Parts: sequence; structure tokens; C-alpha cells
Amino acid sequence: MRLLLVEDEVDIRSFLRRSLVEAGFQVEEAADGKSAERLAADGVYDVLIVDLGLPDQDGIGLILRLRQLGVRAPVLILSARRSVDDRVRGLEQGGDDYLTKPFAFAELLARLRNLLKRNSPAAGEATRLRVLDLELDLLRREASRSGQILQLTRQEFVLLEYLCRNAGRVVTRSMILDEVWGMRIQPDTNVVDVHIYRLRSKVDGKGQLPLIRTMRGMGYVLKDR
Ligand code: CA
Repeated sequence: MRLLLVEDEVDIRSFLRRSLVEAGFQVEEAADGKSAERLAADGVYDVLIVDLGLPDQDGIGLILRLRQLGVRAPVLILSARRSVDDRVRGLEQGGDDYLTKPFAFAELLARLRNLLKRNSPAAGEATRLRVLDLELDLLRREASRSGQILQLTRQEFVLLEYLCRNAGRVVTRSMILDEVWGMRIQPDTNVVDVHIYRLRSKVDGKGQLPLIRTMRGMGYVLKDR
């Protein structure tokens, strides 16, 4: 699940980012309205969190602008403005839900999941990813191969989801670090290789067609045929 987080307060933003990545979201963040617009124009998000008090514009204006740009994803407004008027205005002008600060992360997560469920197509098509005999249920965060459930950690699930979304294409270590761990700079560790190794041992069982391939010197690819 891809999430755009628009929040100018550094502490809240980094706390949210960490917690949301931990909860299985792929998070991109913006500290002001302009960068949020830029990201939303290029990226496809499943859900957005928007703070109302942004340095360059009002969050409501931003939401209206994003809707004009064709962003259909549900928006959770996160704001210190607690009055009924503010909340009604937020909900009437493009917000799908409204949570006031200070907030409990568990409640924020429950609200996000509700928005995602409400927004998912009836057929459930966009909530499942399928590559050959590998299937991911994005709402239940469950992966299976040939109908057998795989016991994955949250991080492994996110990694596998990323590989599935890019099936048939080579993804580099830095792409994985950026998308899955949210790190822009490649740290001096083999974190990606270690996780791929563990993931592969769960996904590619004995006697099964190996799906996760290492492309020497380039990265990894999930086979799609
Ligand atoms: Ca703010």
C-alpha cells in the first residue's frame, strides 16, 4: 500500500513514517503543499495523510488541488484544529476522515485501514496481486504460493509486494532500499541481500520453480513467466 504523508512537523513526520513502514505501508513524504503536489502528480497512492497547517498553503486547499489533479485516493486529515467547524469543513471539502492531534497511532492505523477497505473495488481486484502461482492479499497482508500460506514477516511481505508490483523487471538494491525501507542513501550494509535470502527461502520451496532471481551486478527480478 502506497501512502503519501504530508506533514511539516519533522518529529511527527518521522514518527509516522517509521510506524507506517513498520505497519507495511510504502511511505513517501512531503513537508509542504508544493512538494505534495509534485509527488501526487507523478505517483500513484492508495491513501494520503494531510496535515492542515502547512507552511506554504492550507491543507484544505491542497486537497482540493489534488482532487483537481485527478488524485482519487482517500485522504485522512490530521490536524491540531479540533473545532466542529474545522472538522466539518475538512470532511466537506475533500477529506474522507479527520483525526485530531494529539492522536494514538493505533487509531490512525485503524482509520487508514477503514478508508482503504471502503475504497477498494467490490471485486477485490486491486487488493490482490498475482504472479504465476504466487498470490498476495494486500488487505490481509497474506501471501501464498500454490494455495499454501507463506509465513512472512511484515517487512518480507512489503518486499515481496514490491517485487510483485515490478514482476519481470529488474529492481536494484537502491530501489528496494528506497521503496521498501524508505532510505535514499545506500547504507554500508547487506540488509537487502539478507532479506532477499530469507524471503527466497520461504517463497521458493523445494521442488518449486524459483521465482526470485539474482541478476548479478544489477539486482533482483521476480519471474513472471
Ligand atoms: Ca503543521
